[in-house]
Amino acid sequence: MTLHVGVHVSIGGGVDKAVDRAYNYGSTAFQIFTRNPRGWMYKPLKPDEVALFREKVKRFGYDRYVVSHMPYLPNLSSPNDNIYQKSLDSLINELNRAGELGIPYLVIHLGSHMGKGFEKGKERLLNAVSTALDKVDNDVMVLLENMAGQRNSMGSRFEEIQVLLDGLSSYSDRIGICFDTAHAFAAGYDLSTSKGVEYTFNEFGEFIGFKWLKVVHLNDSRYELASGRDVHEHIGLGYIGEKGFRLILSNKEIIERPLILETPVDKKRGDLGNIMMIWYLAGVKPPSNILKRWEEYLEKDPQDKEIYENYILKM
Ligand SMILES: [Zn+2]
Ligand SMILES: [Zn+2]
Repeated sequence: MTLHVGVHVSIGGGVDKAVDRAYNYGSTAFQIFTRNPRGWMYKPLKPDEVALFREKVKRFGYDRYVVSHMPYLPNLSSPNDNIYQKSLDSLINELNRAGELGIPYLVIHLGSHMGKGFEKGKERLLNAVSTALDKVDNDVMVLLENMAGQRNSMGSRFEEIQVLLDGLSSYSDRIGICFDTAHAFAAGYDLSTSKGVEYTFNEFGEFIGFKWLKVVHLNDSRYELASGRDVHEHIGLGYIGEKGFRLILSNKEIIERPLILETPVDKKRGDLGNIMMIWYLAGVKPPSNILKRWEEYLEKDPQDKEIYENYILKM
């Protein structure tokens, strides 16, 4: 038994550099933005960087464990024609870019209906996804991510996601789900207790179905249950807590998927610390080649050395 777990990594210095960063952390999966996520503008990918990215993904064995995430500004459910059109263009571009890079999954946020209601938002969203999939003929799967229950947001409840999946049934081989633990918790699914975790996964199975689950975002939540706020916290240090993650990671459906962390990097802990916590809380002993990479990394950056010594070495 092994885990495919890693963090969201920067593409600074060239998209291929993301693969090196992931490898140095001893990641066995990773996620990127293919461009600056905070703007609408983007430059085409450089062919030499694309070739290097593909070569490194293959060399380090990441193939099915790489994820691309849509930038932040697009709102595929927007009632505003201008924003909607720009968002649709972004989706088409990101699908093309993921295809160029050989990335199997593109995670999208479901956006906001801006007060017009779920039905109106649904029309926009379904139209955007189907138009993009019609226009771009490649192997990239679009993954709908559950949202945090922010006001007017689409798809925080599993019932809503079921409706969206139904609307895309003719694209079933190019559609999937990305499940974010912090978002689910913020939307009211209590992942901090054994009853709550059981309930959440039962609901997930009933309304969505695990066959659609392709990627898991593992994040703790900085705010309390049903806060409707999307603020991530280090694994075990938020309201889901270590107990919650132990329970989540005891689910076979979860730990078989690529597990991506979008946790903060600050004085409390760095990315490697959160990666190690996942292995620890899943109770899966990391193989020696990964332990070796962690040791090398900690030589240069000892911030998370305590986690290595107090948790990992005692497994
Ligand atoms: Zn996301
Ligand atoms: Zn989030």
